[in-house]
Amino acid sequence: MKIKFLDLHQQYLSIKDEIDSAISETISKSSFVGGNSIIEFEEQFKTYHESDYCLGVGNGTDALEISLEALNLPVGSEIIVPANSFISSAEAISRNNFKVVFCDVSPIDYNIDLDDLKKRITKNTSAIIAVHLYGQPCQIKEIIEIANNHSLKVVEDCAQAHGAEYEGKKVGTFGDLGCFSFYPGKNLGAFGDAGAIITNDQKLYFKCKKIANHGRIAKYDHEFEGRNSRLDGIQAAILSVKLNHLEEWTKVRIQTAMEYINQLSDIDEIKLPNIKENVRHVFHLFVVRSHKRDAIREKLSNAGIETGIHYPIALPKLKAFKYLNQGDEDGFAWISDRELFSLPIHGNFDLNQIKYIKENL
Ligand SMILES: *Cc1c(COP(=O)(O)O)cnc(C)c1O
Repeated sequence: MKIKFLDLHQQYLSIKDEIDSAISETISKSSFVGGNSIIEFEEQFKTYHESDYCLGVGNGTDALEISLEALNLPVGSEIIVPANSFISSAEAISRNNFKVVFCDVSPIDYNIDLDDLKKRITKNTSAIIAVHLYGQPCQIKEIIEIANNHSLKVVEDCAQAHGAEYEGKKVGTFGDLGCFSFYPGKNLGAFGDAGAIITNDQKLYFKCKKIANHGRIAKYDHEFEGRNSRLDGIQAAILSVKLNHLEEWTKVRIQTAMEYINQLSDIDEIKLPNIKENVRHVFHLFVVRSHKRDAIREKLSNAGIETGIHYPIALPKLKAFKYLNQGDEDGFAWISDRELFSLPIHGNFDLNQIKYIKENL
């Protein structure tokens, strides 16, 4: 049997008619850049979050970069980011010429470790990138409290957490700005690169909007040097269709995770994810931990079961961040790259496959 890690084609087939007509409608109107499909999606996405503003941008990395730029932080600022994440969470900092400071993550939920976070704050710290990794919200309320105590800004990286909730409130609505990626493999994915920023702060919204559109206030009137990072029309039309299905796909992800937890709980070599009580974990990934990771993955692979590693090299140990000299620390995030791996999960997953996966563990 073959079990794919992610099956985007299956998802497309399940909503083919809706998607195809949304694409042809956009093409027939030639609304490729700007236009109604973008306004509609932004409206829909902000309503979904009960936030005041939403700006579509080119991708999730840009969402983070633009958000940090909009905050107008002091030159030389240090910005804290978890050491276990995708590189974008940290790149957004260095691309804005700020200093990346990695903090540890907790072995319980793989998100920011609050004690370590507090230790990393200095007089130069001006913001925190709060990542909701794998679909489970980080302790965002506590992070906001720490940030407020030190007058720090908070940018939420929600690239893996569409629809995730902390105490009943959607992630992305706690910090100054919430950043989303719609990379095809995310819980809400476009048919190419796409991203969005949400905020309740009108000034920040307009600042982001200008940055993302050449600093312009009118067609050829540019207030400052910006950049080009716009959500394109076809992607927006696709995202509007898919947002209407996000809830059903999220439910399947959660059911899949519960079934994994039920069936695999008696396997001693595998540590299953801990789900915090006050959150809605949307399981972008189903990440488990084992001393025997590589052997287990090989066995699964031989049985046709795809798995992944998120992430194989902890960020501070990447060549890209060697200059920071944070590669040799010994926090959990620094060693998690040896033991973590991800089992297949997605919005159209057939739960009957879990039995076969278990047989091959
Ligand atoms: C995917 C991802 C991003 C970047 O999004 P892109 O749209 O690929 O630029 C940022 N942060 C995290 C945690 C991600 O998983």
